[in-house]
Amino acid sequence: MTQVETLRPPMNITDRDEKYYRARVTKRADFGPDLWMLRISAGSEFKFVPGQYATLALEHDGKLIPRPYSIVSSPSEDEIEFFFELVPEGALTPLLHKLQPGDEVFMRKTPKGRFLLDTQNGRNNHLLICTVTGVAPFVSYVRTLYKEWQQGRFDGSHKLFLLNGASRPWEFGYREELTHFDIELPWFKYVATVSRPWDHADWPGEIGRADDILRKYADHWELEPNNTIAYLCGHPDMIENSKAILKRRGFLDKASIKDELYWVPSSRPKPKTAGTETGSLETDGRTPALK
Ligand SMILES: Cc1cc2nc3c(=O)[nH]c(=O)nc-3n(C[C@H](O)[C@H](O)[C@H](O)COP(=O)(O)OP(=O)(O)OC[C@H]3O[C@@H](n4cnc5c(N)ncnc54)[C@H](O)[C@@H]3O)c2cc1C
Repeated sequence: MTQVETLRPPMNITDRDEKYYRARVTKRADFGPDLWMLRISAGSEFKFVPGQYATLALEHDGKLIPRPYSIVSSPSEDEIEFFFELVPEGALTPLLHKLQPGDEVFMRKTPKGRFLLDTQNGRNNHLLICTVTGVAPFVSYVRTLYKEWQQGRFDGSHKLFLLNGASRPWEFGYREELTHFDIELPWFKYVATVSRPWDHADWPGEIGRADDILRKYADHWELEPNNTIAYLCGHPDMIENSKAILKRRGFLDKASIKDELYWVPSSRPKPKTAGTETGSLETDGRTPALK
């Protein structure tokens, strides 16, 4: 049994039926050997706000193994979409990786999370920074605003700037969709960056980690603490490094940085709230033309 399983005791069957839907997988797409997308049908009402996560679970050895997963889809879609990374030694992802259309997965009836787009605090720029599967809540923001934009319910007064980091080009999952949004929408900018480009001479985007290119794009897009909220999602090191960079740029009050930490490295004490506040990185990448 892993340490994480020990920390999160499995749930009994009565709780399971009360708290979970038996959702069904409707679609699967693989982006690489350890990255894939599932769409599922809850079979009943599942109301959520973009940026929230669902708890998915599967049974193993008679026990339920639950984990949180950010929702990729918009509430207006009739299915719920997720973007997964396989953790080979993990308790749940090796089981999720086997799922195919038609298979059943438990999904907690209520979504959770407060990693929401904040349009109420007077700052109209939203700097979204993520690694690999951390793009999930941001896709949900953009799909939702796009729909509202088409319907005339969003006037474009809030601007979203997304820095999407990965090791290699095939890890992005949503790059094509987000690039289309960038081209079409005056209120959305998208930059993909890879930290290990050497096997991909044809990679057209940025090079370096998302936090490496943060300063450059914050300058280019004129994102200042008085007009911007930063949202950090995914890899704990990216979150730690980005926070340090943002703090040095003056993002000091609590409302100016939001984070969603996907896991805590075993070497680090578990934080009371997600993320830590130290660390720095210098840019090490080539610099293609800014958008
Ligand atoms: C709010 C929230 C939203 C999340 N959304 C997503 C999402 O959209 N997609 C997604 O794939 N995951 C997401 N996660 C992570 C997810 O909940 C699981 O932790 C992850 O899938 C691993 O589960 P597991 O049972 O296979 O591994 P576990 O048995 O839980 O973990 C085994 C070990 O691997 C470490 N670990 C966990 N995830 C990773 C990782 N990605 N890379 C390296 N080490 C890791 C753990 O800290 C632990 O030490 C999210 C987590 C949180 C808190």
